[in-house]
Amino acid sequence: MIAVKCPHCHVGLKVDEKKLPSGITSFKCPKCKRPIPVSMLSQKEGEGTSSSDTALLHPLKKGIGRITVLPNAGTAEQVFPLAEGVSIIGRKSSRPSLATIGIETTDRSMSREHIRIEVKKDSKGGYKHYLSDNNSKNHTLYNSNYLGEGEEVILNNNEEIIIGRTVLRFNE
Ligand SMILES: [Zn+2]
Repeated sequence: MIAVKCPHCHVGLKVDEKKLPSGITSFKCPKCKRPIPVSMLSQKEGEGTSSSDTALLHPLKKGIGRITVLPNAGTAEQVFPLAEGVSIIGRKSSRPSLATIGIETTDRSMSREHIRIEVKKDSKGGYKHYLSDNNSKNHTLYNSNYLGEGEEVILNNNEEIIIGRTVLRFNE
């Protein structure tokens, strides 16, 4: 076991290094859900052992990506990890919806099934993220341009997507 402190929320963690899959570069902090680089595990033992928190770790697959909803008047900051395959993202609602990611917001100009992001493996073992508008009422702004019908773009790290009046940031 190796004791480390989460660099984000400073919770003390005990990591069973034998249970970490090989080849990962980061794992998820069980408390704040942010990534902790595996390189931190090579630091000297003993730090962080004063905390009683012991955690089960869920490794982040590199390059799967996440969407951060930037906060505004009607919306709190929210982070959604993406999964391989298709995610439909839109305004959370009690009505039935095909959305797999529901954003808590009062922004009524955001459709309930507003955008589609497909995550596919590429030939180098990484992932590519294909964004398209999901026939939304108010369309989708990407790099200051509205996406056309059926248009698909590949997202790059740190790019922003605007749906309704709400800004989403994509990170790899
Ligand atoms: Zn943390």
